[in-house]
Amino acid sequence: MTTSRKKLIIGNWKMHNTVQQSSTLVARLHKHMLPHRNVEVVIAPGFLSLQPLSLEIDRRRIKLASQDGYYKDEGAVTGEVSFAQLRNIVHYSLVGHSERRIQLGEGLDVVQKKVEACVRNGITPVLCIGETTQERRAGETKRVLHDQIVTGLANLTAEEVINIVIAYEPVWAIGTGVSAKPYEIHDAVAYIRSNVQDLYGCGEHIRVLYGAGVEPEYVQSILGIEAEIDGLLVGSASLNWHKFVKIVEAANRMKD
Ligand code: PEP
Repeated sequence: MTTSRKKLIIGNWKMHNTVQQSSTLVARLHKHMLPHRNVEVVIAPGFLSLQPLSLEIDRRRIKLASQDGYYKDEGAVTGEVSFAQLRNIVHYSLVGHSERRIQLGEGLDVVQKKVEACVRNGITPVLCIGETTQERRAGETKRVLHDQIVTGLANLTAEEVINIVIAYEPVWAIGTGVSAKPYEIHDAVAYIRSNVQDLYGCGEHIRVLYGAGVEPEYVQSILGIEAEIDGLLVGSASLNWHKFVKIVEAANRMKD
């Protein structure tokens, strides 16, 4: 089914690194990360670093993503950065990361508008979905994933949905350095694909990533899962060039 697709590896730098540190990290990636035909490498630095990095990166090897963006294209919205302003700088944008949903109160309706704004501006949204510990314990994982998929994609056509990316990120594993178990990832990703299939008929064609607690040693077991994982969203480990390069190399080996 999805095996012919390139693996997509996204490094989410969150609110780490100054502009100078971001530039140094990119220089190290350029130096140590070989170009890999089978892997698409994307980094998501903070807003301030996006513009300078867009001039520094070799776009054939590394693409840029924003970590967020605002859903209106322009207007009196102090402090926000719109996807219209980001459109010639980034290829991708994370949308609905759990840290925004939980810490910043970003609701399903806002996530929906952001997904739509990304698509309107030619940016590929990486819709982040996942359940908290409490939701998992209460047996609500499927309901939560379903709600986040249905609302997140609600204003898109099937032709638009086929090009977006969904990242399954169980909130309980984020930042722990310990990935969810392969069977847990398998079940969630298979469920995500079946939802997208029921809603838009493209469950097998959409790219689905796994993120949360990814370290180099987990890459092969995660990407080897039968439900077809198209790549990884990497937080903490992406701040360490050595680990990030190892993750990219391990992903590349999966395609041999
Ligand atoms: C994330 O928050 O998107 C993430 C994947 O974090 P970590 O890898 O640190 O768990």
